[in-house]
Amino acid sequence: MDHLPIFLDIRGKTVVVSGGGTLAARRVERALSAGAQVKVFAGELSEEFRPFLENEAVSIFRRRVEQEDLTGAILAYGAEEDLENDKRLHALAKRAGVLTNIADTMELCDFITPAILDRTPLVAAISSSGASPILARIIKAELESAIPATFGNLSKFLGQFRDEVAGRITDGTQRRRFWEDVAESAVGERVMAGDFEGAEAALRARLDAFDDRAGGGPAGEIYLVGTGPGDPDLLTFRALRLMQRADVVLYDRLIGPRLMNLVRRDAERIYVGKKKNEHTMSQEEISQLLVRLAQEGKRVLRLKGGDPFIFGRGGEEIETIARHGIPFQVVPGITAAAGCAAYAGIPLTHRDHAQTCIFVTGHGKDGEIDLNWEALIQPKQTVAIYMGLGMIDALASAFIAHGMAPDMPAAVIDNGTRRAQRVVTGTISDIAEKTDVAGLKGPAIIIIGTVVTLRERLAWFQPGEAVANSSSGG
Ligand code: SAH
Repeated sequence: MDHLPIFLDIRGKTVVVSGGGTLAARRVERALSAGAQVKVFAGELSEEFRPFLENEAVSIFRRRVEQEDLTGAILAYGAEEDLENDKRLHALAKRAGVLTNIADTMELCDFITPAILDRTPLVAAISSSGASPILARIIKAELESAIPATFGNLSKFLGQFRDEVAGRITDGTQRRRFWEDVAESAVGERVMAGDFEGAEAALRARLDAFDDRAGGGPAGEIYLVGTGPGDPDLLTFRALRLMQRADVVLYDRLIGPRLMNLVRRDAERIYVGKKKNEHTMSQEEISQLLVRLAQEGKRVLRLKGGDPFIFGRGGEEIETIARHGIPFQVVPGITAAAGCAAYAGIPLTHRDHAQTCIFVTGHGKDGEIDLNWEALIQPKQTVAIYMGLGMIDALASAFIAHGMAPDMPAAVIDNGTRRAQRVVTGTISDIAEKTDVAGLKGPAIIIIGTVVTLRERLAWFQPGEAVANSSSGG
């Protein structure tokens, strides 16, 4: 982060604004909305200052700002829109040790002004670190439409019960869970509908029920969540919501840092490994751990790359969970074949090329390649092979040996949908060698079929990082 986001208490404190135009007026407005005393220094005042003229919290000085004016101020805004004057203010403010913001002049800013979503007491500040204020404003606009205007009422309403609830539910985790339940329950809906009495009754009923339940031990639950192949944009809303609710998260190698960043910050993180030949924890141990954590009353999040039910052993994990009678939910994710194909510009089906698409794993038991060749080698069909990179040589030879045309197009998509995505294309005869030359490390998916040729026209995704020796596929 380039800046530290904080929310500053400036009630009753002095904020200096230098300038009398539109920009200055916005600064005054914002300082006033947070309860500051504002001193404005301006030769000329625009119409926009009219609403402030009667405001007791605003003092207007029709002259330049001087050193003494800054004494004791907490913030100073230079909004003269005249660089020389603003520079002068900056120098004075520095001497007085006052944090300063000069409009549109990043190098003269101790702090920057974020775009704000105001649902007081709930406030969201959005910044692009100065890189693109437009983007921050677009996000603000999205939030404006996504978060009901009455959300402020809800936070205010819940705030009234804070102390009472803290007195009755002393355990921090339990308390947080109580609040989450409440916010997502009918209580929240009633507040937003303006029915405060009904909301209070509902909240008290929940509090009573919670007391009873806490006596008998809290009920944990397990969320088996597919995260897609890596690009966090490919998460589902439900996945994100559960990631934000979990008390503890189990993750493995397929879950990158950009996804982990979206997990609730104070959730406990447990790495359960799963690098090939380096199983940090056996499947059985993982299942046992999930059960134990849930039995302790935790909300346990099990993150899975792609989709949990496609080569994800999700089924095995929840069998154990179900046997113990623990509540769980499964959230589907975009599976690697679908995600990687889309980001590589290779449609898995296409009327001219393939009417069927088969997902197989190349990672047979005991390293043996044991596939149904007859089913795999069919006309107008795409084959997507998971976990096949390590044996691509043997796989490709086997396809040819079992009758596949040696010039059948094939592609390997490595780190698909991620910034480091690399795509190698060729034919079933040369794909193994090309992959080897490119030095792909995985995770990678192999796609076989004439749909691969469509990439020439349909490739669109530009991986974010410049990787040497990247896409050789045309
Ligand atoms: N449940 C997952 C698959 C897990 S098996 C899913 O639905 O996608 C792990 C295999 O998935 C890897 O060996 C690789 O073949 C594939 N895979 C997962 N993420 C990938 C990615 N970002 N790029 C390419 N292949 C990926």
